[in-house]
Amino acid sequence: MSKYDDILHNFINIDLSLVQDHLIEWYQLHHRKFPWRETTDAYPILVSEVMSQQTQLTRVVTAWEEFLSIWPSIELLANSHLSDVLKFWTTHRLGYNRRARFLRETAIEIVHNFNGEIPNSLDSLQKLPGIGPYTANAIASFAFNNGGPTLDTNVKRVIYRFFGPFENLSDIEQVANQIMPPNHSRIWNNAMMELGATICKPNPLCDLKSCPWRNHCNAYSNQEFSTPLSPRPPSFKGSTRQIRGEIINILSKTDALPVPDLDSKLTSSMPPEYNSDLLSKLLHTLESEGLIQINKLKEPPTVQLHP
Ligand code: SF4
Repeated sequence: MSKYDDILHNFINIDLSLVQDHLIEWYQLHHRKFPWRETTDAYPILVSEVMSQQTQLTRVVTAWEEFLSIWPSIELLANSHLSDVLKFWTTHRLGYNRRARFLRETAIEIVHNFNGEIPNSLDSLQKLPGIGPYTANAIASFAFNNGGPTLDTNVKRVIYRFFGPFENLSDIEQVANQIMPPNHSRIWNNAMMELGATICKPNPLCDLKSCPWRNHCNAYSNQEFSTPLSPRPPSFKGSTRQIRGEIINILSKTDALPVPDLDSKLTSSMPPEYNSDLLSKLLHTLESEGLIQINKLKEPPTVQLHP
């Protein structure tokens, strides 16, 4: 018996298949109806996964529908202009503009190297631009039903409470692998993520929303719900992320803009943390990431979105 079999056996003291069934039945009855959950077409799923990283799902729905109406196929996205995708991203307040670039580059790579077919293996998915283990598992699960556990913070919190507490947080991943029913990654990952997002929240709603796992949950039986897994996200206001986003936002509404004009727009709209030195650094970074172009031959230099 492995260490993780021990964890399962000691802590839940119940047939694992029963616990799995409770969660899946609950999900089938109560899950929120997002449109990407109604399809197994890998391209719309890829778009939804890239959009929903650290963005509220309710905000993603409209953006996802409009994105797919503009670029309904991976070929059309691969042939798009980066500046159009960036404009779309910033207009829909999807944040983290690099994801827009990665999504388009992923489309180009799939068209060129995979004949336009999104690969179904985790290995190939993880080699695509900007696709890490979480997103690869999500796409493999939701499109092909052959992924591993999608371990976002919500899912880790559910496992920590239900099976924990763990001294070693890497045990969470091992347990996640053990409890996933074979060949059911699509519904299982959806169900775990839904439980973490709607009931087992940082302040859990165990009774208020009748958690399907109450009868076997360690945290519930001990009434001890704290976890080390919910660090506060860094403040957005005054962050370089906010200023980067505003630079892309301003550039998405104009052609080439003299850098001093951009500087004065940002000075009047950004918090006091902003200054011209920071702008120089951010422009350099954005240029190296391929999101903008700086024309240093002009006096003063101008800046624009990468076409
Ligand atoms: S009973 Fe409460 S703490 Fe346990 S899994 Fe459900 S919501 Fe989370």
